[in-house]
Amino acid sequence: MANWMDVTRLWRGLSTELLDTALRIKLLRRWALAQGERQLLQKYVVENREGLPAKVQEMRCRALVNLLHSVDRALCDGRIAPQVRRSIIKEFIGGLLIGGAERTQGFRERHGFDPPAFLTVSPTKRCNLRCKGCYAASSAGESATLEFPVFQRILKEKREAWGSHFTVISGGEPLMYRSEGKNLYDVLEANPDQYFMMYTNGTLIDRETARRLAQLGNLTPAISVEGWERETDERRGRGVFARIQRAMDHLRACGVPFGISVTATRQNAELILSEPFLDYYFEQQGAIYGWIFQYMPIGRSYSVDLMVSADQRAWMLEQELRMINERHRFLVDFWNGGILSVGCISAGRPGGYFYIDWNGNIAPCVFFPYTLANVYELYRQGGSLSSLLEQEFFQAIRRWQDGYLGGSERLGNLFRPCPIRDHYRFAHRLVSSQGAQPMDEHAAAALADPEYRRRMMEYDRRIAEVLDPLWRREVYPEGEQSHGDPRTLVRTSQGTRLHRRERAVAALSTANQGEDRMRSGKHKVR
Ligand code: SF4
Repeated sequence: MANWMDVTRLWRGLSTELLDTALRIKLLRRWALAQGERQLLQKYVVENREGLPAKVQEMRCRALVNLLHSVDRALCDGRIAPQVRRSIIKEFIGGLLIGGAERTQGFRERHGFDPPAFLTVSPTKRCNLRCKGCYAASSAGESATLEFPVFQRILKEKREAWGSHFTVISGGEPLMYRSEGKNLYDVLEANPDQYFMMYTNGTLIDRETARRLAQLGNLTPAISVEGWERETDERRGRGVFARIQRAMDHLRACGVPFGISVTATRQNAELILSEPFLDYYFEQQGAIYGWIFQYMPIGRSYSVDLMVSADQRAWMLEQELRMINERHRFLVDFWNGGILSVGCISAGRPGGYFYIDWNGNIAPCVFFPYTLANVYELYRQGGSLSSLLEQEFFQAIRRWQDGYLGGSERLGNLFRPCPIRDHYRFAHRLVSSQGAQPMDEHAAAALADPEYRRRMMEYDRRIAEVLDPLWRREVYPEGEQSHGDPRTLVRTSQGTRLHRRERAVAALSTANQGEDRMRSGKHKVR
């Protein structure tokens, strides 16, 4: 089996044009796909350098194989425009494989740990909608905007210092970004060596926007959907569902790959994980990936009652695992999916991220709205995004993450990895003791409200009660957790089991291919 270095060398030796041509040839693409799968299998399941439970590694491998197959299906259907294809090859895959690895090495030598892999930036608070419970409390009347030169500096710095070629853009509505005569297209154009994912309400994507995005090639929109027409229009406003459907039509027609982003609440959890709903977006509309965000009680009119219940969350988890294992979809729940990211990725964890908003305020995570730094101030004082990682607030969260991942003891339950949602007692104490400032009045109200605190901690207790047995059943089916450090046990018991695991993942890959063949015979994308 070729190793990672062989693939890197091979990649370096080929031009983007040649790779692009190769990827358009079905046979070569299939070969590349098989290589990709083998690499993932080798890295996660066979080598398992992180020493994680085998089930965790299998699951991560499966999810990524699913993503590879989704992209392959889109290529197969001719649903990806040429410039988008080249950008994915050069910046996303190439950047991850080669440039990133080299620059990460330099950062590691200087700082003693690996850098974050990406950033989430919300460059504007403005939005053309006014959705109920919006985490950003956005509206058309808002004007807070990150200045274009600062946005540029952030993007340049993360690329040069961390080797990071991936940026998430959130909002507000990113398509409403305007600063110094520049808009989002200018950001994309000025950063052709970055690949972007944008969370958008989708209503501003008309044919011209889709054409522009196809030409630029380096952005994929993740469009917010809430349910069917009734649920969507109820939360987002009349006519929004229809506009979203039209946006997807335009993106498909122009060859821009897109995904969906769904907020799960106590009211819609069963709907958004139902087969008809997911079939509609993945099979008929042609979404390539999906993100599920369980409603988090922050932002406008926050309500603890809207959070999915512990039992719903357990049910969702089982559905999500089934989607990954049986339906081969890249559908990731930001909270239940802790197994895929190996825990919380906030506070600039190696391979993780942090968040910068429209005022330049820097927070550990989009859903952790407390800050001790501002990017304008940071730059004025001669600091950098890398120096920010040394901040005690971030370091304390990273120490907590490390402890949760085992430290010298047991690996924590990755089905409930979130410090602010699943371990609120820790988050509240940390924010209070560090004097971190709320990023808006809603975050301030939540922090000061004893009833909010009591209910969040009660929620965490129920979540542990329900998800811990599930964790043991799914991840340690052979009872490995009952003796000492499970990670050590997995390492020492690898020998004979690896063959079984390889076979399991090979079976997964065969299943994916079978499904691909079926789809290529009668693909339903409109
Ligand atoms: S703080 Fe919570 S939501 Fe944010 S990355 Fe960590 S686990 Fe995810």
